[in-house]
Parts: sequence; C-alpha cells; structure tokens
Amino acid sequence: MLEDVERIKELKSKVSREEAVEEIESEHMRYLLYDRKTLRECVPVMFERLGLIEKFKIDKEKLNHLVKDVSIRMKRVPYHNFTHAFNIMHMCYIIIRKTHIRDYIDDVDVLSCLIGALGHDLDHPGFNNIYFVKLRHPIALKFNDQGVLENYHAYMLTKLLSDPKNDILSGLSPEELWRFRKSYIEAILGTEMLKHVPICGKFNDVVKKIQERTFDKTN
Ligand SMILES: [Zn+2]
Repeated sequence: MLEDVERIKELKSKVSREEAVEEIESEHMRYLLYDRKTLRECVPVMFERLGLIEKFKIDKEKLNHLVKDVSIRMKRVPYHNFTHAFNIMHMCYIIIRKTHIRDYIDDVDVLSCLIGALGHDLDHPGFNNIYFVKLRHPIALKFNDQGVLENYHAYMLTKLLSDPKNDILSGLSPEELWRFRKSYIEAILGTEMLKHVPICGKFNDVVKKIQERTFDKTN
C-alpha cells in the first residue's frame, strides 16, 4: 500500500498536461496522476471535440470559470472530490465518443450529460443521506428526507450555472434550455442508489429493444 502511494507520487511528478490531453480519448485515463488544474484544462478539450463549443457558441472563458468554480466547491474528501467528478464526466465522454449513442440523443442531451456528470456530487460533504436524515440536518429538512444530497448537488449546480461569469448557456433557445435543465436535474437525482436498480432495469429494456430493432427513437 505504502509502496503504491510512493509509486503514484513519483509518477505524478513526471506526467505532463500534454499526456493528460492525449489520454482523453482513452477509457484508461490515469486520473489519479493529474492535479486539479490539469484535469480542469481537459474539460474544454472534450467540449471542443464533441462540437459543443461551436454548436452552442459557448464562451470558453465562462466554461473555464464554471469548471474552476466546480473544482473549488469539491471538498478534498477521499472519494467525492474533483477527481471523481472529472472521472464521471470523462466516462460519459468516452461512452458518447465510442458508442452509437449519438444516434439516439441530441446535442442538448450531450451537453446536459457532461455538465450533469461534472456537477453530480457538487459540494459533497463526504457523508451519506442517512447521516443527514438521522441528524435532522437543515439540508434533510429542506428536501423532506428525499434524495437529500442529490437534490442538494443539483441545486448547487443550478446556482453555479446562474452566475453570469459561468453563463455557458446563452446560445441555447428557451426550448433547449428547458430540456437541458430537466435533463441534468433528472440525471443527478437518478444517482441516488435507491434508484439504481429500477434505472438499470429500464436501461436494459431499451438495450434489448435496440438489439431486436424494435426501439422507436422518435418516442
Ligand atoms: Zn458520484
């Protein structure tokens, strides 16, 4: 264990930003080797490669500001930290790039998927929902003990997106904005472990229909 920590420390001192950018296309990206700044710099690269910057006329400065704001608000807890947020966003990126999922979702879905992934654990305190509910913590009271942290993360993300310095959404039409918001909130609330099994069931049904060629993508 100690040897592993030492080995990671040594590797960390050797890796460069260029290596991180190169690894963006790999599902084996070595997240733990890169510092927050390097991971942050990979985000606009992914947006660019997915065509989102051009499609939604996203101001890169504002995108960088938003990502920095997210990273600042991710606590330095062992798991739910900025590396985890980046990891989930990057996994979404890999799925979008390497599968045919784009035949079934549009650019608004892609945007909300990435932003939702980045913010899905925003300001996570390192404790779980039961802890807050049993404590009768103000956050649990505010969200009536239902998906307490997930509601909190979605709320925090909405707050960051509302800051004019983070306004990456000015290029979206009112209809796109509505779909974007609905989609990232649903995605973040869906990360509650209680919902995991039913969501996987639905997902498997869709996959089965696609394989059997009975899936209606207009529905
Ligand atoms: Zn998470």
